Amino acid sequence: MGRSGSSGLQRENCNMSLREEYARQEAELDELYREIILDHYRNPRHRGSLESPSASHEGLNPLCGDEVTVELLVDGDRIADVAYNGSGCSISQSSASMMTEAILGKSLDEVRRLKDDFTALMRGEGEIDPESLGDLEALSGVRKFPVRVKCATLAWHTLEEALGELPTH
Ligand code: ZN
Repeated sequence: MGRSGSSGLQRENCNMSLREEYARQEAELDELYREIILDHYRNPRHRGSLESPSASHEGLNPLCGDEVTVELLVDGDRIADVAYNGSGCSISQSSASMMTEAILGKSLDEVRRLKDDFTALMRGEGEIDPESLGDLEALSGVRKFPVRVKCATLAWHTLEEALGELPTH
């Protein structure tokens, strides 16, 4: 299993004042978006691990102590199954949950394109049809808080690393 991000030094969860700041930020998000984010946080999709994944990668966001492990089962050119596990702030964990729903069943090319579209959306770049992103669009409100963009993209950068670990054929 691969690993990227910081050493273990900053892995404890956000401290109290950071958590209060985060709560303030989340309260500023559009209400519909906030509800979607909290729904994924409270009712995570595909949380857990796979029995024999084709690739598995753990990503860390040292800025707030978020951890996300992404596991993929690839059949031919498709994501046949996906799971994530981790801990951290609501944005990082809900983004991982949304990602699993968005990529399940898709081809590797489609997944890479979605990753590019989502990270471009979070950077405020490009012309993206928000419809194509489904629930992921809810994270666009996080752009107001540059530090949190890293929380939102952690799962996707971890996914990219996992894709890079797939055996080439
Ligand atoms: Zn975070």
